[in-house]
Amino acid sequence: MWKRISVCAALFGLAGCAAQPGVAQTPSRQQFSVVHSQEEWRKQLTPEQFQVLRQKGTERAFSGKYFDSHDVGQYFCAGCGQLLFSSKDKFDSGTGWPSFVRPAQEKSVLEVTDTSYGMERVEVECSSCGGHLGHVFQDGPKPTGLRYCINSASLDFKKQ
Ligand SMILES: [Zn+2]
Repeated sequence: MWKRISVCAALFGLAGCAAQPGVAQTPSRQQFSVVHSQEEWRKQLTPEQFQVLRQKGTERAFSGKYFDSHDVGQYFCAGCGQLLFSSKDKFDSGTGWPSFVRPAQEKSVLEVTDTSYGMERVEVECSSCGGHLGHVFQDGPKPTGLRYCINSASLDFKKQ
């Protein structure tokens, strides 16, 4: 029981599930539909996927399997299988990470301010499992001007 509470607390902050009066829940991160403990995620994912999705890691540039992929199809969350991006929105950014001008559906991703490493960036997470995907920057091409810079390790591609 204690273990379950501490996992829950780690995922949502105590306010998320302990129902403390007067403590507001972060509106963008209400209950995720897919929730596992870190141990469960560790078993389910490869070490690379775990490091990116659950520990907010970043794969080395030009090391992932999708940065240079031009295949037609859809990219799903490697953690929970939710549709995240489509090849029609992918472009060659030259950064060494898969880059997209938009998510496949607006509701697929959460955008969260990230102030780690002394920078203010916008982190992109899967809206279904909270997995870390990458960051979004405002230097992308038309039509959106956005660059969703995503780790290959967080994605699972299905060819059309
Ligand atoms: Zn997910």
